[in-house]
Amino acid sequence: MSITPLMPVYPRCDVRPVRGEGCYLIGERGERYLDFASGIAVNLLGHGHPVLTKAIADQAATLMHVSNLYGSPQGEAFARRLVDATFADTVFFTNSGAEAVECAIKTARRYHYANGNPHRHKIISFDNAFHGRTLGTISATSQPKMRDGFEPLLPGFDVVPFNDLEAAAARIDDNTAGFLLEPVQGEGGVTPATQDFLQGLRALCDEHGVLLILDEVQCGYGRTGTFFAHEQYGVIPDIMAVAKGIGGGFPMGACLATEEAAKGMVFGTHGSTYGGNPLAMAAGSAVMDVVMAPGFLDQVKATGARLRAALEQMIPNHDDLFAEVRGMGLMLGLKLKDSADARSFVAHLRDHHGLLTVSAGQNVVRILPPLVIEESHITECVERLSAGARSFAVPVAA
Ligand SMILES: *Cc1c(COP(=O)(O)O)cnc(C)c1O
Repeated sequence: MSITPLMPVYPRCDVRPVRGEGCYLIGERGERYLDFASGIAVNLLGHGHPVLTKAIADQAATLMHVSNLYGSPQGEAFARRLVDATFADTVFFTNSGAEAVECAIKTARRYHYANGNPHRHKIISFDNAFHGRTLGTISATSQPKMRDGFEPLLPGFDVVPFNDLEAAAARIDDNTAGFLLEPVQGEGGVTPATQDFLQGLRALCDEHGVLLILDEVQCGYGRTGTFFAHEQYGVIPDIMAVAKGIGGGFPMGACLATEEAAKGMVFGTHGSTYGGNPLAMAAGSAVMDVVMAPGFLDQVKATGARLRAALEQMIPNHDDLFAEVRGMGLMLGLKLKDSADARSFVAHLRDHHGLLTVSAGQNVVRILPPLVIEESHITECVERLSAGARSFAVPVAA
């Protein structure tokens, strides 16, 4: 038998972390990595943050799980906080980002069903989008590596170019339920929606009675310097999927909606065994305590601006390798020149310079540090990146 006990769907690298300390990961042999990947935008507070670890330990000892058949003082309290801090009126808790997007899609379809328009079931999504790995969420992406061999996928999805308002407008028809997009595409290459695009989609939604569904699983939860990225556009969604940072490493997600958009989600229409259990709510509340503390988000904005400036300053010294910096807040992408490969450079930084980043589409190195980084971590990141750029051999075209 040659298949590994862990199903071999990930090309796992040689970093084998066994401990985390703040912004560092420590491997099996004691080697230290500066973690500017954060479990792909998950470990908002870094590793071993005392507020989060204590909340989880205390709640685990008090009450870990009960069924959603019972009343949930913990869920009610945390949902109330999310509602008070956002556009939303109601929240469904999930265990992952894909499930949050699934709930968002179901909520949108049920809205039109409740309005007597069950034919309005189609979701328009966008090129280079990533919404998760369930059958529903891979149906909302056009990327062959995620779709091939899993057909037939869910009908009712249409994929159009990102940041192309005309293409989006042209695709609306009588069957459209809504638009689904990431305000800042993550896996696709750290590409922010343009102001005109997001604002234009909102206007199209209002004009045609369709719903704006935002996937802020990666760009949300303070990552871009506001609680959610859409706040910086002055655009309000009807439904939003949240996960990754919300639990700071505890697996959880949430689907947020306005009262109007959630009108079809009545008793019995949806559910989850684990979703919103007391342990998850304790983790979520602890993360939110930190993120909502006065000055925290301003600090993220300021830190993001300093990291960005430092990266931009570095570009001219390595202009054979680096093309540009993109992104918002602490969700940054370093786009490489076509002659270099982002995956190889990420591996080089990891294996030879102790710096963890993540590659993304469009030849981008994603830089997603914990939101609690300090000046010293910025300096260290840029030093390691520069050293990495110096020692990285860009293959000369044959
Ligand atoms: C990671 C991600 C998801 C999927 O989240 P999982 O927790 O892996 O299911 C969905 N949307 C976006 C934008 C993501 O970055």
